[in-house]
Amino acid sequence: MKEAKLWIDGAWESTAETSELKAPYTGEILAKVAKATVADVERAIEGAHKTFQSFKKMPAYERAEILYKVVTIMRERKQELAEILASEAAKPLAAGLGEIDRTIATYQFAAEAAKQSTGETIPMDAAPGVTDRIGYTKRVPLGVVSAITPFNFPFNLVAHKLGPAFAVGNTVVLKPASQTPLSALVMAEIFKDAGLPDGALQIVTGSGGELSDTLVTHPLVKKVTFTGSGAVGLKIKEKIGLRKITLELGSNAAVIVEPSTPIEKIMARCVGGAFGFAGQVCISLQRIYVHASIYEPFTKLFVEETAKLVIGNPLDEKTDVSAMIHPDEVSRIKSWIDDAKRQGAIVATGGEFTDRTCTPTVMTNVKPHMKVVCEETFAPIVSIVPYDTLDEAIALVNESELALNAGIYTNVLTDAMKAAEEIEAGAVIINDIPTFRVDNMPYGGVKMSGYGKEGIKYAVEEMTDLKFITMKLNY
Ligand code: NAP
Repeated sequence: MKEAKLWIDGAWESTAETSELKAPYTGEILAKVAKATVADVERAIEGAHKTFQSFKKMPAYERAEILYKVVTIMRERKQELAEILASEAAKPLAAGLGEIDRTIATYQFAAEAAKQSTGETIPMDAAPGVTDRIGYTKRVPLGVVSAITPFNFPFNLVAHKLGPAFAVGNTVVLKPASQTPLSALVMAEIFKDAGLPDGALQIVTGSGGELSDTLVTHPLVKKVTFTGSGAVGLKIKEKIGLRKITLELGSNAAVIVEPSTPIEKIMARCVGGAFGFAGQVCISLQRIYVHASIYEPFTKLFVEETAKLVIGNPLDEKTDVSAMIHPDEVSRIKSWIDDAKRQGAIVATGGEFTDRTCTPTVMTNVKPHMKVVCEETFAPIVSIVPYDTLDEAIALVNESELALNAGIYTNVLTDAMKAAEEIEAGAVIINDIPTFRVDNMPYGGVKMSGYGKEGIKYAVEEMTDLKFITMKLNY
């Protein structure tokens, strides 16, 4: 059986204890995965700190070259990488290949960013009495970055940490989700082949809860970057003291569909946004607010298209929706649907379960306080809700404490701009679903959905300090 080891200072290390990694769709055991101890994590952090002393001096050109080589290697190994995603995350192959393409783009943006770190000249003589000084700023790396990542985009969300960190000369200790260690560990091999110095990337696998304190409070850790659930994000933020932190958390993304929308043209996009990767996407479309005048035809078509989705093995190219990440998630979501039904919600299609899967589910007659509406479902469930006025729809979107991306479909320019101004969200997507993301856009939630931004340029800012330098020109 495959043994997945820790990656510390450029070498694989076994641990005394291991855990079994099971495929979400088949339940088969894929690997024995090393369980790092606190002492292992401390060594990884110390090694990363040591490497930082030389890595921070590596010229930008060389750091960019390493990232460009990662891009080249990933292009050559695309199919194999997508198959890792299918086996350990149950991500259907087509979606997996899509994630690898995005990951490649993310590393490419990072390679370009490595060469673009600039500062500004400060007009020192603008201050009264200062005539003989120059002043300028530059961005400097922080040191060791602790990166903690979730299971749902285990290549691309790791890339959003490693890419910007290496672009600016930081070193990283990465703790991937316990369900998706293999996608992270293969990147150790790829970065090694691309020429990354040993110790610049350390990967420790094991329980996030058990390793958390060391990962986020070790004195040599200068920045914590976390993507995952709100509950864990909040716990981390309470611990980190004055360290820099970025938190990319969950949401219950909403879209407004105004009466001017040609519904047949947006249907495939909306259904894909609701059920892609079984809804286990932080900007999965969870709430659809449809103007009352088009609610009936919209819902009918949506239900018809949803019923066509194919549920099956992630390695089968025909599969649209595969297993939930863990059987416990199936039980959780079943109880949420049952709870909503008891309070009057209607399952228009779906709501069928096996031990590992949940059929794509469309709910109507829901109320704002139901869990399937106000919390993050992180499952293939979407609610369709009618409204009468745009003000009412915006108020319904804003009622949520979760606010990553939100969308509006409308042909009326003034309504689009009203929504853009009034919706409380990290991003407002006009004429598309909130599930839209490309990897150079600023990305991050407001309210309880996050703190700070990713998107390479923005992550670079969060992973550096702004240093000011001034020189007096005469004694
Ligand atoms: P999770 O349970 O919060 O786990 C995320 C990571 O945190 C894993 O590596 C996990 O390790 C670790 N962890 C668990 N407990 C911890 C603790 N006490 N301290 C420090 N780390 C800890 O999230 P998930 O189920 O993997 O991912 C789903 C969530 O991520 C959803 O809420 C989703 O919306 C969010 N997400 C947000 C974005 C975004 O960009 N905003 C993107 C993707 C996903 P173990 O696996 O070992 O427990």
